[in-house]
Amino acid sequence: MAENRIWLSTPHMGGNEQKYVQEAFDSNWVAPMGPNLAIFEQNLENYLLSGYVAVLNSGTAAIHLGLILLGIKSGDEVLCQSMTFSASANPILYLGATPVFIDSEPETWNLCPILLETAILDRISKGLKPKAIIAVDLYGTPYKIEEIRSIANKYSIPILEDSAEALGSSYKGQKCGTFGDISVLSFNGSKVVTTSVGGAIVTNSKALKERAVFLATQAKEDAPHYQHSEIGYNYRMSNICAAIGRGQMEVLDAHVFLRRKMHEFYVDLFSAIEGVTVFTVPDESFFSNYWLCAVLIDPSKTNAITREILRLVLEEENIESRPLWKPMHLQSIFSDYPYYGNGVSETLFSNGLCLPSGSNLTEQDRNRIKSIVLDLFSK
Ligand SMILES: *Cc1c(COP(=O)(O)O)cnc(C)c1O
Repeated sequence: MAENRIWLSTPHMGGNEQKYVQEAFDSNWVAPMGPNLAIFEQNLENYLLSGYVAVLNSGTAAIHLGLILLGIKSGDEVLCQSMTFSASANPILYLGATPVFIDSEPETWNLCPILLETAILDRISKGLKPKAIIAVDLYGTPYKIEEIRSIANKYSIPILEDSAEALGSSYKGQKCGTFGDISVLSFNGSKVVTTSVGGAIVTNSKALKERAVFLATQAKEDAPHYQHSEIGYNYRMSNICAAIGRGQMEVLDAHVFLRRKMHEFYVDLFSAIEGVTVFTVPDESFFSNYWLCAVLIDPSKTNAITREILRLVLEEENIESRPLWKPMHLQSIFSDYPYYGNGVSETLFSNGLCLPSGSNLTEQDRNRIKSIVLDLFSK
């Protein structure tokens, strides 16, 4: 393989990250505390324009703490989007609670409002009223914010918004990561903002944020000795990671712009190819960061070219692509839990492929992808 590998999504530094990391070293704040945490949190709060942010050491930790803050206990049921990354659902099991999986609707690929309400009514009829709803902004596209919120309010069930993929996205001008009773961000290496590894919880009160920080720092009580009356976690972000986050926030909007350019590139590339559709938001109320661009391939219209054929052809040319998230109800670890389905996520999984989407891809990268795609589909 002669040419360099093109990845789905890689870290894209803005330039000032190392300066802030150096400052952290110079002041010896090489610890899960230090000045960068408050600054990065303030940057995020300024960006989101609502909510109180606590930065943590992963998005998964943020989901776990979020469920704890929502009072989820062993034996409770938690409704969760099936079409997602496993980190949305694993923390339900950490707590000994039961996930109940809900299928997607085809417009946003996120929680189907109809199935959500069906599931709530069915669980209530069995005497098992769900305690929380995990709604995901998949691939950066907001879920049907208003429909899901009105169902949540109707049955008084809080929403945990998994916005791990959606920093920079918004719905009707309001940022993703502010729609949940608790919301969660991820700064893992592949995400739009990366701190190498990291995440954040967004709460709607200062008190709740302080509670999150307390639990994330081993639930150490205010005493000269080590005093504990609750289970604590070691979930706080490192000052080094927060330094990277500060630098990343300076280029967030510029990088979202470039991801959206990648989406335009694919829309343009596939516009003349029958049977391939590029996943695009349903209308202008939805603004996606297009964290990952994805296509759906209908082999009945492409001369039997499937998503797997496209994946293998790209791989042959040292270009990474990946099937969409495999739904949770199809995973052996989760297949015994209740599931309310309509077949949408299974079809998405069979026909969908994520394509290289990074904000750091070059004109040359795009040309390589373009010529392979055009060559394959002209056969
Ligand atoms: C990345 C991701 C997470 C987990 O975040 P980490 O920071 O990797 O722990 C959770 N949910 C979704 C949908 C994600 O894409």
